[in-house]
Amino acid sequence: MIPIAKPYLTREDAQAAYDTILTGWITQGPKVQEFEENFAAYTGAKYAVAVSNCTTALHLSLIVSGIKPGDEVICPSMSYIATANAIKYVGATPVFAEVHPANYNLDPVDVEKRITAKTKAILLVHQIGMPADIDNFSSLSKKYGLKLIEDAACAAGSAYKGKKIGSHSELVCFSFHPRKVISTGDGGMITTDQEDHFNRLKLLRQHGMSVNDRVRHEAKQIVFEDHFEVGYNYRMTDIQASVGIKQLEKLEWLINERRKIAAEYHKAFKDLEFVQLPTENDGYFSNYQSYSIYLKKSCPVGRNDLMQILLDQGIASRRGIMTAHREMAYKKNSNHVNLPISEDLQDHSILLPLYVPMEDKDLQYVIATFLKIVNP
Ligand SMILES: *Cc1c(COP(=O)(O)O)cnc(C)c1O
Repeated sequence: MIPIAKPYLTREDAQAAYDTILTGWITQGPKVQEFEENFAAYTGAKYAVAVSNCTTALHLSLIVSGIKPGDEVICPSMSYIATANAIKYVGATPVFAEVHPANYNLDPVDVEKRITAKTKAILLVHQIGMPADIDNFSSLSKKYGLKLIEDAACAAGSAYKGKKIGSHSELVCFSFHPRKVISTGDGGMITTDQEDHFNRLKLLRQHGMSVNDRVRHEAKQIVFEDHFEVGYNYRMTDIQASVGIKQLEKLEWLINERRKIAAEYHKAFKDLEFVQLPTENDGYFSNYQSYSIYLKKSCPVGRNDLMQILLDQGIASRRGIMTAHREMAYKKNSNHVNLPISEDLQDHSILLPLYVPMEDKDLQYVIATFLKIVNP
């Protein structure tokens, strides 16, 4: 069976977790700080704050951006549902906008149409690792006085106009779930250049506490903590961070391997007129967290049939990225929502296997099987 994805974890990653456990310091401590410093240096951001996952990263980013009940935040419906959920956590309303068929990212023209007096922010997703047009959204945000937050859950190591994702906007959120390019089991990170955000994020992730456990532990004189505001327990553990440090060292190599596989798919499918392949324009660099292709109406085999035939031949695939507005959690408030492009993309796209290491014979088998099904 060829899986859709699998995390790349080595003996070295396991050893790092093992060593950390034996130090006796297993929750947020020195390893979290080291991971944050390495991640900030890697992305080119001034600061990085590690948290328990990307959903909590988004939640805290919305809080420090001052998003409140009654506010509207524009985001894609076609994204993992956590994007919209985080907006709900602060009591705000996600306003879903349309995406581009070629890269699954928000369409700035459609976003502008959905701005109202209540709009306070844009939550920009770099879908399955393909960067969105940050400059365009940055100007749009400035024009209307909105906050721009990036949901870069899938985009660690992707780049836009020569700079790594994480270095462009005020707040950028990453995920280290096993379905992403590097993993810590669960885990998240927020990058920022602003010291005020950095300090408040560190408070909020640990119950709003003025002194963290490590400072108290290392203190030579007694210290008492204060709790400045109602915070959360959104800590990453040192066990996770020690794995993250090792994973990060492999990220560039992993992306290179993923891009070779994507290039093979591209070469094999580029002449099929009934598929739309992912488009990486000049200045855009994807980590290929997933490889998704869109099947046009002229495709001789329907998407679901194609997935079943692939499965019968031992190849896992997945449907296109979900749309939140068609899920039970959002449906009852989505009667007026009109997103034909997003719905069409969800219904007619397919994700193909992409992981490291993927043996060439497996890759060639996926390609040959796919071609045989669509070109009977
Ligand atoms: C995976 C993902 C998330 C959620 O990340 P977690 O770390 O699992 O909380 C949020 N947004 C997008 C776009 C994702 O792909």
